[in-house]
Amino acid sequence: MDDLALASYWHIDSAPARRRFAKSLLAWFAAAARDLPWRRTRDLYSIWVSEIMLQQTQVATVVDYYERFLRAFPDCRSLAAADEAQVLRLWEGLGYYRRARQLHAAARQIVSQHSGQFPTTFDEVRALPGIGRYTAGAILSIGTDARLPILEANTIRLGCRLTGYQGDPASTAGQKHLWSFAEAILPMRQVGAFNQALMELGSTICKPREPACDQCPVAEFCQARAAGLTLQIPTATRKMQYEDIAEIAVVVRHGPAVLVRQCQPGERWAGLWDFPRFVGTAEAIPQRVAELTGNKIAPGARLTVLKHGVTRFRITLEVYAARLTGKRAATNTAVRWVDAAELAELPLSVTGRKIANLLAEESNGKPAESAVTIARSRPAIRRSLPSAAVRRG
Ligand code: SF4
Repeated sequence: MDDLALASYWHIDSAPARRRFAKSLLAWFAAAARDLPWRRTRDLYSIWVSEIMLQQTQVATVVDYYERFLRAFPDCRSLAAADEAQVLRLWEGLGYYRRARQLHAAARQIVSQHSGQFPTTFDEVRALPGIGRYTAGAILSIGTDARLPILEANTIRLGCRLTGYQGDPASTAGQKHLWSFAEAILPMRQVGAFNQALMELGSTICKPREPACDQCPVAEFCQARAAGLTLQIPTATRKMQYEDIAEIAVVVRHGPAVLVRQCQPGERWAGLWDFPRFVGTAEAIPQRVAELTGNKIAPGARLTVLKHGVTRFRITLEVYAARLTGKRAATNTAVRWVDAAELAELPLSVTGRKIANLLAEESNGKPAESAVTIARSRPAIRRSLPSAAVRRG
């Protein structure tokens, strides 16, 4: 069978076939859907928060963050009124902090332009910071049953298999084909449940490596299955090229206080706080700490080594102790001396929090050296996704 014969959706694109497809899918979803907190509401604001958190992040990770966030900020007005530091503190550990800053900015826009009510038209939603075609479609279809298609990592894979698409799903032609398919199969009613069912099916049954075709409610429509190509489709996209980086973080102490610095716009983790940190080797510690904070210090022992991944970077972070050798330099909005209580309240980078926890253990009587860990934090994304797509569990 050639590519063109497979890459079509004629087999679903007739009213009776669409109805059968939707009926089978919705019946399966009613019985098999995971009970997730954002599925118990049709409040657009809550669905929006869940959709932003689920971008690039697994469902199991998101649940606690979502519930904490909504307790602190139950609506657009409370989120808009918050300090950015409060928002980032609640986002801490979820990664991709730009999402949190854009969510915050969008809440302010909703207050100023929509009287605090989440907008209900596609164009208004799409105009908010951080919201693309997928997210706008997901929020409005889930919240109001608007007939809008969605396309994210799971439904890209599902769409490729259902239509037997053997091209690159990230290409312009691939995206056009998949959006067109997502639109063509939309039912007239229950669009929110239908879209969620597609994502759920992709996430739990039509998995990347071993699709459970024998449990699939829409197997009769699947072109890849009919052609025996479920493992070849979708075509593998280019693998992420990882880059190894060596970084240094420095714990400068003065009495009960430690020196921290806010990451600046354009830096990784902009807006979050961290210990003075730079790419390089231990020899550069005095000079780089002086450049970053204005303080003269003498480096001490290595406290720990943390390994973590951020997007395509595999970072080995060596953490050193240091002591102040002169007077404290004047502090400013981006450089502060903080005690343990203040450190607990500041939004920190993932590794900044690991180091802070290490210091807390040390002050509780556990020597820092014994608490040394080689930790791997959030895994780097395994492969890049088309801009319209998000990774979700
Ligand atoms: S039959 Fe298999 S490959 Fe096709 S959609 Fe269902 S689970 Fe995916």
